[in-house]
Amino acid sequence: MGTTTFTKKTLGLETGEPGVTPPPVNHNTTFAKKPKLPGRKSRKRDIPEGLWTKCPKCATMVFDKELDENLKVCSHCQHHFPIGARERIHSLVETCTFEEMDAEMTSVDVLTFTGVASYISKLEDYQKATGLKDAVLTGICKIGEHRAALGVMDFSFLGGSMGSVVGEKLTRLIEKATEKTLPLVIISTSGGARMYEGMFSLMQMAKTCAALAYHAQARLPYISVLTHPTTAGVMASYASVGDLIIAEPGAMIGFAGPRVIKDTTQAELPPGFQTAEFLLDHGLIDAIVPRKEMKPRLIEYLNYLAAGQN
Ligand SMILES: [Zn+2]
Repeated sequence: MGTTTFTKKTLGLETGEPGVTPPPVNHNTTFAKKPKLPGRKSRKRDIPEGLWTKCPKCATMVFDKELDENLKVCSHCQHHFPIGARERIHSLVETCTFEEMDAEMTSVDVLTFTGVASYISKLEDYQKATGLKDAVLTGICKIGEHRAALGVMDFSFLGGSMGSVVGEKLTRLIEKATEKTLPLVIISTSGGARMYEGMFSLMQMAKTCAALAYHAQARLPYISVLTHPTTAGVMASYASVGDLIIAEPGAMIGFAGPRVIKDTTQAELPPGFQTAEFLLDHGLIDAIVPRKEMKPRLIEYLNYLAAGQN
């Protein structure tokens, strides 16, 4: 009978150092350090947040500072980003000539409207976020050599919606222009009437247009500038009755949105429907003016229309 020898197998740990002891550092290994590759810094350091904006049209990352210097227009594809009312006024009027009217006028919640949130709390939130009291700024200013009445809407305040404050401020501006025999420029951007104010917002359509009729009767010029987007109650009232109607490139202009029209008419809409370019071809507007050319072009129009008036 053969003898079988059993050998005790070990895992080789019995004689080793306890597990907590750190292994000795070996400096001789070839791969001790990860090689540094040139130009591969961390992404976070390359693109700090808030300094770049991706252009929705050409997908280029645009440096925010460059965008600001270019009046919020993409220098690669000329896409016009939204611009705030104050910034726009700054780009159009002669320095320090804008005398604001009714700066403290704010909306009252006449209907005590409550949806997802109360109208009052919505107003407070937007006032805090935008630094504006409502969706329009109005005042008397100088554009080139011309004294003019200027109203500028801001889409960032509740979608540029027209409530009683927007209507009242614009009406007072138009009436002031009539009284002082001044030409009028209104730069619109709006999603339409402010439904939080129900019928009170719809009444602004008639009120602003009535004031414009008196302005026209006094043979004073009104230039309406449509920017992206100008729709619904605003487009159906003061924005579409200018002596001259001009628009920024690519602006969406219309009454109802394309989906509603398609569903109602059951017809295919033509390409480019409701863009400034389409409406220029079909005679609704008179010219398309890029934002950077807006001031010299307004001066040129005022030279023709307001010659000898101020
Ligand atoms: Zn672009």
